[in-house]
Amino acid sequence: MKMGLYLKNRQPTVYQTFFNAINTNHLSHAYLLIGEQGTPLLESAIFFAKSLVCRNPRPLACEECLTCLRIDEGNYADLIIIDGAQKSIKKDDVHAIEERFETSAVESKGKMIYIINHIENMTSEAINSLLKFLEEPSENIYAFLTCENESRVLPTIISRSQTLHFKSLDKNIVKDAAINLGAEKIDAELLCNFYNNENIIMQKIEDSDYLNAKESLLNTISALNTNNREAIVKIHLNVLPKLKSKEAMRYYLDMLSIFFQDLLNITIGRPILLSTQLNNLQILKSKLFHIQESLITIMTSRSQIDMNINLGLLLDHIINYIVEGDEKNGN
Ligand SMILES: [Zn+2]
Repeated sequence: MKMGLYLKNRQPTVYQTFFNAINTNHLSHAYLLIGEQGTPLLESAIFFAKSLVCRNPRPLACEECLTCLRIDEGNYADLIIIDGAQKSIKKDDVHAIEERFETSAVESKGKMIYIINHIENMTSEAINSLLKFLEEPSENIYAFLTCENESRVLPTIISRSQTLHFKSLDKNIVKDAAINLGAEKIDAELLCNFYNNENIIMQKIEDSDYLNAKESLLNTISALNTNNREAIVKIHLNVLPKLKSKEAMRYYLDMLSIFFQDLLNITIGRPILLSTQLNNLQILKSKLFHIQESLITIMTSRSQIDMNINLGLLLDHIINYIVEGDEKNGN
């Protein structure tokens, strides 16, 4: 994906801010990129880093020269990327940057750059180390920090950086763009709720956690279309075995929430998100009677995934709630 083009077209304010800074030689030493879940913040941070060292800047990164390509390959000695997307960032990670940058730059551009992705996932010791590092900026050291959850970032970090706020994009635009790239409608409809960019959606379509969660969602919907006891049995047979990882379970519960939000939408005549599920939504809106309470149960259960709870028991609890409330209403 050409990030320069993406930023120029989809995030013009962010693009222009950074363009002006580099064009007038008024770069800050630390940038904080803030955007909602699914915004390509890390990819944008890498693009900005490239723009500082590109051999052929226009004035932003060309994304084609040897330096830009080496950064893509993770092969540029003066760029360090620490990614908090999978695990929390520790003090030692920050110290490793400081130690590495104590010596002079290796590459001929003489600029040393670090990217910390998801700074909301730093331990408090790591944040303190980072604060000290940001307090004493070196002339040739540049930082790009990203976060999806601004409320979890210390104001002192925010005040020491220049913030770049990425706007959230209309889901329908992202969905249609993914369909134009060849995504099935149902995948585009589901994934546009998680990712703010069609190229990322195209990558996630192949992701096994997503595929298992999608199949589980569709099996759940078809099970709910049968009678209640059969539904519980079918979900045990067809859904539970697919949801082995926490990540698949998270996807599944998020998608089930979206489906139940649509049940509420269709009940009160609001537009729905999952147009591929229109038939099922119409059948189930009159079959299930406590949709709002079920939605709350699904959402609160999601927060329990990380508490080492048995995923099978969690799913039982949700499905029993959806189905049994149904019986209590005499259906
Ligand atoms: Zn370049």
